[in-house]
Amino acid sequence: MPSCLCEHCTAVCCRYIALPIDKPEAAEDFENIRWYLVHENVTVFVDKGQWYISFGAPCRYLKEDFRCGIYETRPKICRSYRTDACDYHGGEYRYELFFSEPAQVEQYAAEVLGKKKK
Ligand code: SF4
Ligand code: SF4
Repeated sequence: MPSCLCEHCTAVCCRYIALPIDKPEAAEDFENIRWYLVHENVTVFVDKGQWYISFGAPCRYLKEDFRCGIYETRPKICRSYRTDACDYHGGEYRYELFFSEPAQVEQYAAEVLGKKKK
């Protein structure tokens, strides 16, 4: 039987939470994103057109051997996660957009808002 991909991974998917956010449209929206990004371990990314904020925070139940400490009662979102398009495959580079520093969103906002003015 082939081994599960998770057996070769350091549980990348158990080290953050990501929540959907509204797509920024106005200067104030981009300023809010800049505020998110001045904080450590916060990133913002776009996946399949949806904007997300991500907080780097390892799960308290992740064990030293990278297995789940509450496997039988793990949250539904953990149960539904699949390896076929999981974080193991590409990290930030598979996202349409990825911001990890304030300057990146400043530059992006200038481009987007500049186009709107034209
Ligand atoms: S689902 Fe993907 S990212 Fe999560 S532990 Fe398995 S291989 Fe790693
Ligand atoms: S509950 Fe288990 S599967 Fe879910 S994030 Fe924590 S360690 Fe990972």
